[in-house]
Amino acid sequence: MRHQPGCIFCHIVRGEAPCHRVHEDAHTLAFMDLFPAEEGHVLVVTKDHYPTLYEAPVESLRRVMGVARRIAPALRDVVKPAGLRVVQLNGEAAGQTVFHYHLHLIPCGPGGEMRVHGRAQGEAGRLAELASAIAARVEPDGGAPPRG
Ligand code: AMP
Ligand code: ZN
Repeated sequence: MRHQPGCIFCHIVRGEAPCHRVHEDAHTLAFMDLFPAEEGHVLVVTKDHYPTLYEAPVESLRRVMGVARRIAPALRDVVKPAGLRVVQLNGEAAGQTVFHYHLHLIPCGPGGEMRVHGRAQGEAGRLAELASAIAARVEPDGGAPPRG
């Protein structure tokens, strides 16, 4: 596993820092964003440390998007948002704050603010509740196609 000392997402991947886990496989980990831009904000990260899109191998990107595609309908079932944004930032100028490759899944209401970063830390109990409700609805890999 490629690992960068001091990287918070590497710490989470290695189980050295906590997270509200939504999904895990050999190559990816998905968990609730600690500072949700919207209720149900999920991050999907590579287990290997790649700072940005530029360093990540295409196969890793495929895996992350494959998992995002399976989480999306589960997230939709739980949060029932009007829409879902899939966002990925590269470089400080783009607003990236954690330099370990990840996709944001951000539910949104109609005409809401287009924020990627939340202003306040999510309440732990609520994040845990959302994580387990979403996790319970993620179809197994190669399972039934998502509804809708
Ligand atoms: P970005 O700005 O695209 O690099 O996004 C990094 C995201 O990671 C932000 O939305 C943060 O709220 C989130 N974040 C930072 N630290 C943690 C953590 N320990 N657990 C969960 N999410 C985190
Ligand atoms: Zn890392």
